[in-house]
Amino acid sequence: MTAHVPRLFINHQLGIGINVTLPEETAHHIQHVLRAKLGDPLILFDGLGGEYVSSIISIRHNEVEVSIVSYDPVSRESTLDIMLGIGILKREAMKTALRQAIEFGVTSIIPLETENTSVTRKQFDKRWKNWRQVIQSACEQSGRTMLPTLHEVQTFNQWIEFADGDLKLLASPLAETGLKCIELVPQSISVLVGPEGGISDNEEQRALEAGFVLVSMGNRILRAETAPAAFLSLMQYRWGDF
Ligand code: SAM
Repeated sequence: MTAHVPRLFINHQLGIGINVTLPEETAHHIQHVLRAKLGDPLILFDGLGGEYVSSIISIRHNEVEVSIVSYDPVSRESTLDIMLGIGILKREAMKTALRQAIEFGVTSIIPLETENTSVTRKQFDKRWKNWRQVIQSACEQSGRTMLPTLHEVQTFNQWIEFADGDLKLLASPLAETGLKCIELVPQSISVLVGPEGGISDNEEQRALEAGFVLVSMGNRILRAETAPAAFLSLMQYRWGDF
């Protein structure tokens, strides 16, 4: 990855020789903030792997067209497949949690409606689009080459049935064991982190019955937006690419 060349996610499949008209907002940013000129390089990625070097071939008012000149099959993805089920948080906290989850290499994310979710169902749809935008931006910034999947909102019960992998973990402040007690070396993990109000006793019980292991990250309570990043970094350190 070349540090000073802008890196942009394009929401359709790319290929060498293709000309791409950038979305208006991106074009505006490139013209007026980055002050790019004809011939300047841009790195594009479509979230399906690798990245493409392109060159600006036309600039008009808020319209920028680039031509793709080469493909680099680089991968910056972890070998550990992590599915994160996260209790929906308040507006900014959710964005922070998602951005950091991307930086820490999560593979897929499922926003969860739990007993203690304070956001109303009516707000989910509108927010989902913002969450997807946050994920795309975090991929651009962090150099990710695969775009993690953002699933539709699920209820807690739907998710514990949906979650799979070699290991299923629930982050719980009161759990008696930590990650270091797990001897298995997983390649895929489902992880559940609660919302601001935590996971209820009922929900913990249901998760246990569905095969989740409760793990603690020490005696201090982490904020709901901090917990996913902390948990993901521990998993990448233990079994992934840290
Ligand atoms: N009063 C809530 C409780 O006791 O569960 C606090 C919830 S905490 C702000 C939000 C979520 O972060 C929790 O549901 C849990 O998944 C995770 N979390 C926070 N601190 C943790 C810790 N020390 N160990 C494991 N998980 C933690």
